[in-house]
Amino acid sequence: MKGKNWREYEPYGRRRKKRRRRKGGMMRRGLLLVVLFALGYGGFLLYYAISRPYMIALDAGHGGSDGGAVGVIQEVTLTESTVEKLQNLLEADGRFRVVLSRKAGEGKSIDERNAKLRRWRPDILLSIHGNANEDSGAYGFECYPSPPGYDNHQKSLAFALLLAEEMEQAGAKLRGRNGVRFGYYVEGGKKMLVESDDTTVYPYGTFGMLRNMNWPAVLVEQCFVTNTADVENFGTEEGCQKAAEAYYHAICRYLEGE
Ligand SMILES: [Zn+2]
Repeated sequence: MKGKNWREYEPYGRRRKKRRRRKGGMMRRGLLLVVLFALGYGGFLLYYAISRPYMIALDAGHGGSDGGAVGVIQEVTLTESTVEKLQNLLEADGRFRVVLSRKAGEGKSIDERNAKLRRWRPDILLSIHGNANEDSGAYGFECYPSPPGYDNHQKSLAFALLLAEEMEQAGAKLRGRNGVRFGYYVEGGKKMLVESDDTTVYPYGTFGMLRNMNWPAVLVEQCFVTNTADVENFGTEEGCQKAAEAYYHAICRYLEGE
């Protein structure tokens, strides 16, 4: 009986063991695939990060229910179109990774957009806006680097000067002294704009997107959405492409000269 029992049960036991082993084998293979996939994906990310050393942060002004200024076109149309074109240029270059403060069509507050970009610790931040004026004759390009007193002021000013230079070469009229100004919010939330030779350190905050940044940060007013000729030059699809190319050249020049 003992022997019979042994014969009877032993093969059964073996079969069970085999089945368990097969099951365990499948699990191990599955795990191996997951590990290989993770290594592959991690390797890809590492390769992507190493082969593209620069991180560029782009902010399309406004968005969602806030369309910005309204003129011949709405401001947000210009900001999203230019960001998309600039992102394409940067990614095609091969040296840049791009982080956006928000997706096209998405509505996010300035604080949320600022916080998101800061988390990525980019090499450069460019925030794109369109200008507006009750006087439809007003036109031209101006940009706002982090102002005097900010840690990143010098770097931001150098980048702003290149942006203005490239936009002038693309045919834009530079407003004010050289297209570069500093912007502050004074008491009561009123805006105060000064020329780039005013190096006074004012006790006022600047534009929300430029705050708490350690890297060059500039806000551009690409053109006046309230001026027909300006929109034709820098607010249409071709115009936004022209501006995006000017910004792309300025970014390349700034980082190459660093
Ligand atoms: Zn704006």
